[in-house]
Amino acid sequence: MKHINYLLLFLFPILLLAQEHSHRSSRPLTFPDIPGYKTIKSDLHIHTVFSDGNVWPNIRVQEALRDNLDLISLTEHLEYQPHKEDIPHPDRNRSYEIALKEAQDHDLLIVHGSEITRSAPMGHNNAVFIKDANPILQEQAEKAFTEASKQGAYVFWNHPAWYAQSPKGTPIMSDFQKTLVEKGQLHGIEVINSMDYAEESLALALEYNLTIMGTSDVHGLIDWDYTEKGNHRPITLVFAKEKTLPSIKEALFAGRTVAVYNDLLVGKEAYLVPLIQKSIQVNSLKYIDDTQVLEVVLENLSSSDLIFENAMTFSFYSKPAIFTIKAGTSETLRIKTLENLGQLQLELKALGAYVAPRTNPVISWDLRVGQ
Ligand code: ZN
Repeated sequence: MKHINYLLLFLFPILLLAQEHSHRSSRPLTFPDIPGYKTIKSDLHIHTVFSDGNVWPNIRVQEALRDNLDLISLTEHLEYQPHKEDIPHPDRNRSYEIALKEAQDHDLLIVHGSEITRSAPMGHNNAVFIKDANPILQEQAEKAFTEASKQGAYVFWNHPAWYAQSPKGTPIMSDFQKTLVEKGQLHGIEVINSMDYAEESLALALEYNLTIMGTSDVHGLIDWDYTEKGNHRPITLVFAKEKTLPSIKEALFAGRTVAVYNDLLVGKEAYLVPLIQKSIQVNSLKYIDDTQVLEVVLENLSSSDLIFENAMTFSFYSKPAIFTIKAGTSETLRIKTLENLGQLQLELKALGAYVAPRTNPVISWDLRVGQ
């Protein structure tokens, strides 16, 4: 007993330190890389007390670490500061600076951003990858976008379907947005904002070739707003050549993203298909005894539950055509191939994934039996 206590005495401070610095949690978001790209987990729409949020910027950094994110941006409203009597902060860069300092010893990238806030038709827009937030604070909306553009910012339209600005709950692409797109000053659009997904926003993303975004737009705590309710925070997966800010910026401008909220995944086919393809690992593949029933064990490596529908002509033994592979777990499929095949294409429609409004992609895996 004595030597155990002795050991603990030495270990205790080390354990305490490790705990303080790892921010480990039971809710990490995980997605595999896709061929040619690193999968960057980002949330680029977040508020703190420096605008209308309720927490200090360091809490946002710690939440992002608990969620296993790679990149965040604190996008304070430039024009709306309800806490300014208690926290006067004429410098609109403060929130970013505090977050940057908090994140310096961690594997989390912070990108400088701001929210340009107007009523409809301009609406709310986030400019990220900015250099200085102060000159973006402008009386005239057009001037704010011109300044963001001058700084090389990536700009996206926030919650275009928000009913406070668009009472029908559907986005209205006004001449203001059309002109911005033409001038190259608007590059992305939120199709998922907090708990809301709008398929009309996805349609606009595809029509105007805007980058598909998903964000938490969190004002309270991630724990209270999402985790406690059994949800993950909405994020944008960015497919970047490297895990660096310039590389991520290039990927956002190029439209290489998938927006994720729980089991909902929304993105362009070129990225969503390989993402789901890589999220499923085939662990075992064999015919049951002397039968023509092929047994396949599929493991979901992602943190999203994946819902599939059989898209093959072959039917399943003892399983319905629609089934779910929960995040981080395995499911066994028994496929009635009618004859013993050496090779076949497993084809499943991903029902939680959208490449266009109400359009699910069919994902295929090349199965080779008996190796
Ligand atoms: Zn916002």
